[in-house]
Amino acid sequence: MKFAVIGSPINHSFSPKIHKFFADSLGMKIEYEAIEIEREEYSQRVRELFHGGFSGLNVTLPLKDLAYQNANERKKNSETTKTANTLWTRDESIVCDSTDGPGLIQDFKSKGISVKQCNIAILGSGGSARAILPSLLAENPSSISIINRTAKNTDHLMKDLDLKEPEVSGYELNQNLESLPDIIINCSSAGLKAERIILPSGLLDKAKICYDLSYSISDTPFCLLAKESGVEKVFDGKGMLLNQAALSFKIWTGIYPEIPEDSKIFI
Ligand code: NDP
Repeated sequence: MKFAVIGSPINHSFSPKIHKFFADSLGMKIEYEAIEIEREEYSQRVRELFHGGFSGLNVTLPLKDLAYQNANERKKNSETTKTANTLWTRDESIVCDSTDGPGLIQDFKSKGISVKQCNIAILGSGGSARAILPSLLAENPSSISIINRTAKNTDHLMKDLDLKEPEVSGYELNQNLESLPDIIINCSSAGLKAERIILPSGLLDKAKICYDLSYSISDTPFCLLAKESGVEKVFDGKGMLLNQAALSFKIWTGIYPEIPEDSKIFI
């Protein structure tokens, strides 16, 4: 079976290593490539890949919205987030789903984190915030505060996903929250772009858990900030990366692979 991850830039992707690890541990033979595709060439190249014998594709930046828009059939999680990171075909139709949100929740569960009745703050209102919000809401938190630099991007996201107060509220970086969060999830790319992380004052004061969707071999800037502020439990996004990949692998092959405990082996 042949698979690929598509996006641009794509050289940095850990998906080929992760999926080959899953296949090897199950004694399966797969090929998995990283293929550079720009937005303008999306629909033609994807059709060519499926006609050329690919069984499934992972989709990353900047193509996740196009993957959703161009699919012939959308699974529930893709429909609620209006984004997609996993494609496959049924007969002649391209089917899409989004495994990012379920991947985060699975990683939370494996770490013993429950969001039920917690106040959650999400930093950022871009593609990854979009992908995880419906999955978080399904776990019944008390509230979700989306904090973002550009208010109109939060407004757009909330309208597009039909998110409403009081469950979900939007805040700017200099606004104080109604109630301080128990859990903070960083979906902003500021730290990884080496830009200053600006937060509402006192945001980390009551937080017990900080989770950064970004990941790296050493602590990310947000993880460092959380640790320096005395937050008890601090994680980066390697676990989510592995869990969303495992869910894609299951969609394509019907088999749920074992997730290695040490995610550093890929990075
Ligand atoms: P987007 O580009 O879609 O969104 C980025 C967000 O960061 C926006 O809300 C943007 O705000 C905000 N931002 C960027 N720079 C700054 C800054 N200097 N100050 C304040 N806010 C800033 O990115 P994604 O949501 O797709 O990805 C975000 C991160 O999540 C990436 O690092 C990515 O690698 C990681 N990720 C990890 C996954 C995993 O499996 N672990 C899965 C998906 C993503 P504004 O609206 O104002 O521009």
